[in-house]
Amino acid sequence: MEVVLERIEESLDAALGKAGVKRERLAGLGIASPGAVDVVRGIVPNAPQLPGWQDVPLARLLEERFGLPTLLENDASAAALGEHRFGAGRGSRHMLYITVSTGVGGGIIIDGDLYRGKSGAAGEMGHVIIDMNGPACGCGARGCLESLASGTAIAKRGEELAESGDSPILARLRKEEGPVTAEMMERAATMGDAASREAFRQAGHYFGVALAGFVNVFDPEVIVIGGGVAKAGDLLLEQARVTMESLAMTQPLKGVRLAVSELGEFAGAMGMVARLREEAEG
Ligand SMILES: [Zn+2]
Repeated sequence: MEVVLERIEESLDAALGKAGVKRERLAGLGIASPGAVDVVRGIVPNAPQLPGWQDVPLARLLEERFGLPTLLENDASAAALGEHRFGAGRGSRHMLYITVSTGVGGGIIIDGDLYRGKSGAAGEMGHVIIDMNGPACGCGARGCLESLASGTAIAKRGEELAESGDSPILARLRKEEGPVTAEMMERAATMGDAASREAFRQAGHYFGVALAGFVNVFDPEVIVIGGGVAKAGDLLLEQARVTMESLAMTQPLKGVRLAVSELGEFAGAMGMVARLREEAEG
């Protein structure tokens, strides 16, 4: 644990150095951490990537180390807040944020505030089940959105296409660059590869099924899409929109805006800036 705290201190100092800002000028620290977090007590219950981390009071440990007020938030929730306060969701009251990268995550803004649920685990949009007989998901269920439309799922389909000979372009790129990635398939699609294009369309369809469900449940004004795979833009989102519009109920669908993230990889950091500022203002 000490090692992780040292790393945090090192990267903080590196970032400050780069920005030309002294530590004394900091007003607080914000940590956006993966997985469910106990926001009120500032505790990370468990960190899958860090063995041995059980109920770590991360906020208090950092407060002691740096002498600064420290807030903790789930990473996707922090990104949702960032997009709501400073990005593509500005001015809305009800907003959903969905990030599509290696996995699929999300955050929920209701009446202008983050909705976290009873344990801090709300917003796991990637684990809504689309196909009960679908592929196994990392969470233990089958056919979750993440298992069908994440960057990992799309790349897995790409490997099949390269292997089977259905996509000569992907087969060539794989030979030159290594294992197929969603980003590689995006390039293949723009080079005219119909099989890659179809893989994105299929993932977009699953994504649209999930979006229709979210629209019916939350009746949001805007759904902000972020994460690396969102950069594929219309390759994924065009079909997602068509499917969403064909499946969602009329009333909640009316006026829903699908928007691409404006803050990109800085969404989470900006969300923590918003939280620190709002906390300080009371
Ligand atoms: Zn799952």
